[in-house]
Amino acid sequence: TSFATLPLSKSLLTNLESLNYQKMTEIQAQSLPLILNGEDVIAQGKTGSGKTAAFTLGILHRLNVKQFRIQSLVVCPTRELADQVAADIRKLARSIHNIKVMTLCGGTPLSPQAASLEHGAHIIVGTPGRLQDHLNRGSLKLEHLSVLVLDEADRMLEMGFQDAIDSIIEHSPKQRQTLLFSATYPEQIEKVAKRIMNAPKQITV
Ligand code: AMP
Repeated sequence: TSFATLPLSKSLLTNLESLNYQKMTEIQAQSLPLILNGEDVIAQGKTGSGKTAAFTLGILHRLNVKQFRIQSLVVCPTRELADQVAADIRKLARSIHNIKVMTLCGGTPLSPQAASLEHGAHIIVGTPGRLQDHLNRGSLKLEHLSVLVLDEADRMLEMGFQDAIDSIIEHSPKQRQTLLFSATYPEQIEKVAKRIMNAPKQITV
């Protein structure tokens, strides 16, 4: 199916065309109608399935670039994945002027990141521990968050990030869209999903 069947803005569709994304992948075709409709979605899909574009289009569809505040947060298990996701978001968002995407990962000093946060951003991509640090010291505020994405949620739980994820949830508004991507769907993920999501639709590819 073509992306043109979706209620996306003309500039996003033009950008997809210029990136030569002609057809939706399976995970995109199944999840995007739900995501663009504002629903919570649990999607089982691996790297290579096109999951990053699926949640990114959901984020960009909702984003108001004129409101310079944090509207979306993508939580990833590793710095490498966070950098890759941020690069993909910037690529898909290149038709949106003045959009600011910031990464917050461990392994770099906290203070310069906190200083950058003071200058504002629309979209944050980060790893759980570092996000929790910024929430605790008050340098990251999520009160205007509308979309929360947990990417590779099974890996994050395996790595022991449950507490950090709980802390992110506690700092997020109740009224939000939550998207959870996971390669596997063990009971632990099901429990988390029940707790943090609102009537989620589940898809498997
Ligand atoms: P991901 O599973 O998110 O890591 O994406 C895998 C790769 O597929 C990335 O390099 C994307 O740029 C690319 N991709 C995602 N969606 C599409 C699409 N609909 N058509 C062509 N390439 C795509």
